[in-house]
Amino acid sequence: MTSKIALITGATAGIGEATARLLARKHYRLILCGRRQDRLEKLNADLSAQTEVITLCFDVRDKDAVKKSIDSLPDAWKSIDILINNAGNAHGFDPIQTGSLEDWDAMIDINVKGLLYVSREIIPGMTDRRAGHIINLGSIAGKEVYPNGNVYCASKFAVDALTRGMRMDLNPFGIKVTSINPGLVETEFSLVRFKGDEPRARSIYKGIEPLTADNIADIIEYVLSSPAHVVLADITVFPVAQGSSTLVRRD
Ligand code: NAP
Repeated sequence: MTSKIALITGATAGIGEATARLLARKHYRLILCGRRQDRLEKLNADLSAQTEVITLCFDVRDKDAVKKSIDSLPDAWKSIDILINNAGNAHGFDPIQTGSLEDWDAMIDINVKGLLYVSREIIPGMTDRRAGHIINLGSIAGKEVYPNGNVYCASKFAVDALTRGMRMDLNPFGIKVTSINPGLVETEFSLVRFKGDEPRARSIYKGIEPLTADNIADIIEYVLSSPAHVVLADITVFPVAQGSSTLVRRD
C-alpha cells in the first residue's frame, strides 16, 4: 500500500497505460498525461474507483503547455514522488539519405526535448524534498544502432545519456534514476512508426512472442518496490526470441 504520487507521460496507450492500470491497483495516486483527451477521460473513469487520478492533456513538445499543465496541479498534488518519462515514439523507418525532416523533428522534439521539458518542471520539487524516483523509458535502440533506426536510435541514445547525467546530478539529493530499455514490445508503437499501416506494423511481431506492455509495467512496479537504499539503475529487457536489436528468431 502506498499513497505516493506518480506522474506518467504517454499514459493513453501501450506501456504508459498498462503502468497506470497496474499502479492504480497498487493505490499510487496518479497524474496521467497524454494528448488524447478521450482516452484520458476513459482512464480516469476506469481507475478512479481504485485510486485518486488527475489527468493532464498536453503535448510534451510544447514547453509552455508542459509548464502550464504542471503548474495547474492542486497543492495536494504538487509533491510528485515518481516521474515516469514514457511518452515517445519512433516516426518512420527510412535510411538517413531519404529520411523525413518532419519525422526527425518529431523524434527529437518528443523523445528528447519533451522528456527534458517535463523533467525540468518536476525535478526542482524533488531536489527541494531530497526525494524522488525518475524512470526514463529508453530502448535497446539507445544501446545499439540498427539499420534505418538512425534518428530514433539517436533520440534514445540521448535518453540514455540524460538518464546517466540525471543520476549523477541528482546523486547529492538521494533521488533515484532508472532507465528501462525494452526490445520488441507490441503496443501502438509500430503503428505510429509506420503511419497507420497495420499489416506492416503487425509484421514486426510475426513469428515471435513479443513483450507486452504489461511485462514492462510489471518491471516498473518492481523497480518502484525496491528498498529505499536500492536503485535499479539500468534494465534491458528482450522477448526470448530477440538476441539484439538486429537479431530476432522467428518461427
Ligand atoms: P505507444 O503505444 O505508441 O504509446 C506512446 C505514448 O506516448 C502514447 O500514450 C502517446 O499519447 C504518447 N505520446 C506520443 N507523442 C506524444 C507527445 N508529443 N506528447 C505527449 N504524449 C505523447 O508506444 P509504447 O510502446 O507504449 O512506447 C512508450 C515508450 O516506450 C516510448 O518512449 C518508446 O520509445 C519506448 N519503447 C517502446 C518499445 C516498443 O517496442 N514498443 C521498445 C523500446 C522502447 P498521445 O498520442 O495520446 O499523446
